[in-house]
Amino acid sequence: MRHTFFTGISKSLLLSLCFASAAFSSIARPFLGADEVSALENNSLSVSVGPENIFDNKEPLPVNDRILSLLSLVQQKSTTNAAKVEDILLQLEDINSTFNAAEKYLIFFIHGLIEHYSNNDKQAIIWLEKTLVLRDEIPEKQLYLPEFSEVNLILAKSFSAQKDFKQAFDYKKKYIRNGYQYFDGTRAEKIKDLNKTYATDQKIKQNELLANQNKIKRLKIIAAENKKFAQQRNISILFITVVVFLILLFRQIKVKKKLRYLAKIDSLTNLYNRRTLFEKGAQAVGKAIDEKQSLSVILLDIDFFKNINDNYGHDVGDEIIKIIAQLGSETMRSRDLFARLGGEEFVGVLPGVGCAEAKAIAERLREKVANKDLSEFNIKQNLTVSIGVACLEQVAPNFDDLLNAADIAMYSAKGNGRNQVCQFKDQTQDNND
Ligand code: GH3
Ligand code: MG
Ligand code: MG
Repeated sequence: MRHTFFTGISKSLLLSLCFASAAFSSIARPFLGADEVSALENNSLSVSVGPENIFDNKEPLPVNDRILSLLSLVQQKSTTNAAKVEDILLQLEDINSTFNAAEKYLIFFIHGLIEHYSNNDKQAIIWLEKTLVLRDEIPEKQLYLPEFSEVNLILAKSFSAQKDFKQAFDYKKKYIRNGYQYFDGTRAEKIKDLNKTYATDQKIKQNELLANQNKIKRLKIIAAENKKFAQQRNISILFITVVVFLILLFRQIKVKKKLRYLAKIDSLTNLYNRRTLFEKGAQAVGKAIDEKQSLSVILLDIDFFKNINDNYGHDVGDEIIKIIAQLGSETMRSRDLFARLGGEEFVGVLPGVGCAEAKAIAERLREKVANKDLSEFNIKQNLTVSIGVACLEQVAPNFDDLLNAADIAMYSAKGNGRNQVCQFKDQTQDNND
């Protein structure tokens, strides 16, 4: 009775195992459909699997290709194949006695399969259980591979055939659990790979972004440098332009000043010229009238100057003109004006100086000229001048009339024998006398 009950329970368990087994045979393949996965997940057998990679990191042991070929031959369930495979296996075992644990595992599995397909399950179990002792030497990851894991399924089937349902159940459970773990392991690995690829893609994108940002930064720096350079160049150009402009302006002012000076100055003597004389003379007369002060004018003419030119040359004549200019300037006070009227004629304007004092000044100048040593020019005779003097109170109060009066006085001096000073008033008095 108990036996029947146990057998009933075992059978129902086996039924569920078969259902799970059907699902697992698909799960054990590397690629699964969504329906199959959900079928497995809804299965009554609960198998705990971690979300992370459950396999150890050991590398799978290498497996001889011929062993794998033999395994697939046996899995075709052909009796002729089985005979062939057994022959080859014997040969292989003879040739190579140094198979690794994985290879030995598969060889035992092949033997077990042959026996199982020959309905010789007792013998099959013996072969298949030999694989159990090798499991510790094989990396876990490799054991979960379908060709390794199927040992559990065949063991379950063989035990089931032997009516040892308990063992059959345990192996089937193991087989299914391995299937889950294999599936989850590969899924975890795939996710890991995908994450790695995604992370790499992200990194590549980030690097590209950084490279582009750097490029933009570099371009911005170059643009800023170019802008700075352009600004500096513009500032330099502006600065140079301003400097050149200022130099030209300064030169222009200098030239104008020089021209204005040259327009006022007699180039031979550096005295004021005729034009300036009339300008400044008129101003001085105006000022003297305003301030009710005296003002006198002296007019000097070199005696027989033509002779000097004729006898000693025009250059010496020029030098003599310069000497007179120098002596005249020396004799004047700082407020006086001594100018070249033209040719060998000079005019002195003496503000604040009355008739008598002017005559005395003129006399001093005449003496200076007469006493001037001209031996450096090989001129033997004395140089003399005739000077006419006129003062403001004697004539109409304007410079022209004053100069005219001085000229008349000068001609009087010439007429009286030269080398003398004549005063305008004196001349009138002389005439009256
Ligand atoms: P006088 O005593 O009557 O004045 O006789 P003068 O020979 O001086 O006669 P006048 O005043 O008429 O002659 C002036 C001469 O001065 C005529 C001219 O050749 C000369 N002369 C005028 N300007 C210059 C000059 O800048 N340099 C030189 N070397 N000679 C000049
Ligand atoms: Mg003259
Ligand atoms: Mg003269």
